[in-house]
Amino acid sequence: MEADFVIVGGGSAGCVLANRLSADGRHVVVLIEAGPPDKSPFIHMPAGIIPVIRSDTYNWKYWTAPEPQMGNRPMHWPRGRTLGGSSSINAMCYIRGHAWDYDHWAELGCKGWGYADVLPVFRRMENFEPAKGAPDEYHGVGGPLNVAAHRYLNPLMKAFVDAAQQAGYPLTPDFNGGTQEGIGYYDVMQKDGQRCSNAKAYLDEQVKARDNLTILTDAHVQGVRFEGKRAVGVTLKGAPGEIRARREVILSAGAIGSPQLLMLSGIGSAAHLGELGVPVVCDSAGVGENLQDHLDVTVTVKERSRHAVSLNPVGLPRSLKALWQYATKKEGEMTSNLAQAGGFIKSNPREPIPDIQLHFVPFAYTNHGQDLKPLTGWGYTLMACDLRPKSRGRISLASTDALVHPKIEARYLQHESEMQRLLTAVMKAREILAQPAFKPHRGEEVLPGAEIRSDEELREWIRQKAETIYHPVGTCKMGVDDAAVLDLQLKVRGVEGLRVVDASVMPTLIGGNTNAPTTMIAERGAEMILTDYR
Ligand SMILES: Cc1cc2nc3c(=O)[nH]c(=O)nc-3n(C[C@H](O)[C@H](O)[C@H](O)COP(=O)(O)OP(=O)(O)OC[C@H]3O[C@@H](n4cnc5c(N)ncnc54)[C@H](O)[C@@H]3O)c2cc1C
Repeated sequence: MEADFVIVGGGSAGCVLANRLSADGRHVVVLIEAGPPDKSPFIHMPAGIIPVIRSDTYNWKYWTAPEPQMGNRPMHWPRGRTLGGSSSINAMCYIRGHAWDYDHWAELGCKGWGYADVLPVFRRMENFEPAKGAPDEYHGVGGPLNVAAHRYLNPLMKAFVDAAQQAGYPLTPDFNGGTQEGIGYYDVMQKDGQRCSNAKAYLDEQVKARDNLTILTDAHVQGVRFEGKRAVGVTLKGAPGEIRARREVILSAGAIGSPQLLMLSGIGSAAHLGELGVPVVCDSAGVGENLQDHLDVTVTVKERSRHAVSLNPVGLPRSLKALWQYATKKEGEMTSNLAQAGGFIKSNPREPIPDIQLHFVPFAYTNHGQDLKPLTGWGYTLMACDLRPKSRGRISLASTDALVHPKIEARYLQHESEMQRLLTAVMKAREILAQPAFKPHRGEEVLPGAEIRSDEELREWIRQKAETIYHPVGTCKMGVDDAAVLDLQLKVRGVEGLRVVDASVMPTLIGGNTNAPTTMIAERGAEMILTDYR
């Protein structure tokens, strides 16, 4: 099998590339996805997020190595494993990040990636539905990624938004507009009440039917094949065994998968590859390094008013009604992404931009929904993450077998400033949840629990309980310094015919959720590739 472009990974970025590179019919494109097609109804029904994250089929279920600063815990890292990748299992919050994030990339040397450069891409990739007045300076219409307002709001969301204002935070109507700072309702990547994953947005039936596009699912790529320094194709487990690329191989396997594939193919630190006996094609010390993620703490309170989402049998009639509403009209509670409200706040008024993000969910959220027991009660949870971590982790090979997960060292909390920010985050979350707006709903605090108060107790609790909020990036960073794996055109430095286009290219983690930024990166990557082969 042969194509002009071979794209590895049908996730958020891969779906964009498959669409854009095959659009004008001039190039033959193959998209290869390790996971199955995105058939499960739970993927498409927004409230199905919990079963989807719990699934062994659609979630890679990665684990980090024991984390030294986190009580030596291995930590669970969900990642999507289906068409749409993580956009098929994510919480659908549509956030671009702060303008500063992109201007910072430009300051680091990534010329052409400043906010003024990327804003037009964000505008044209979206079809912005919320009644905030698109098209305008910040929003566009007519793009593939549908952005919508909620069709249903859990009553606890209003309590949260009111409580946050009572605690002194301003209301912001649009986190992606002129002012990110403040509290409000998230816009969501949904269309007609259903998840709008990047597979939905970019690979609709018409696109899938293009003669020059082949999509392979359940096809695990094992590595990139080289002739000298030129990437000429990929190898697969099972048929067709190998797919040749006439022009380029593009890795879009995500922040964990892409560096793993580079290393399996001989691109990485020569010392590390030597340990595993992988022949070196290019000694590139930055591969797998620079791993960054948002670490999240949660405050959970028992709820008395029973508006929460619960697996308690008492809630069964409500759930059945919601399912009926969803099945018949795509309305009601099942259209909820659960994290409907939140905000961007500063740990300290001296911070120039928000450094804590809040997500409020109407249930007792623990351990990525893996423990069902807390979900049988009634509760609500305010999640707060550190948007500006300094710690850098790494991905390395645990084996030369492509099916074995790589070693993930998140290396959270290497800096005291990060712990300080999370301590402040817990304090601020508690403060919001203690406001009068929550009075009709409030029961006792379950997590951290009223007894955990002192600085020392909270530090230990954070080490034991903080979790990822699913935004790993940076492991194949673009840039101009020696540690950069990619140039600013996302080409792998030191070889030919190979690019990486996905969340791994970010030099620093943006201050917000990462799906929209990844989609923007893929739109730009596609544009660069098409320009090169015009
Ligand atoms: C549970 C969860 C909740 C999240 N919530 C939000 C949110 O609300 N808003 C938001 O903006 N972001 C959210 N994110 C983050 C966001 O979804 C990701 O940053 C984004 O999807 C990353 O895109 P990507 O293309 O880099 O990787 P992915 O979308 O993960 O795609 C990588 C793809 O490559 C495939 N792959 C990997 N290895 C191979 C191989 N060897 N061969 C073939 N295929 C391979 C994978 O199966 C996958 O489909 C969330 C993520 C998760 C996991």
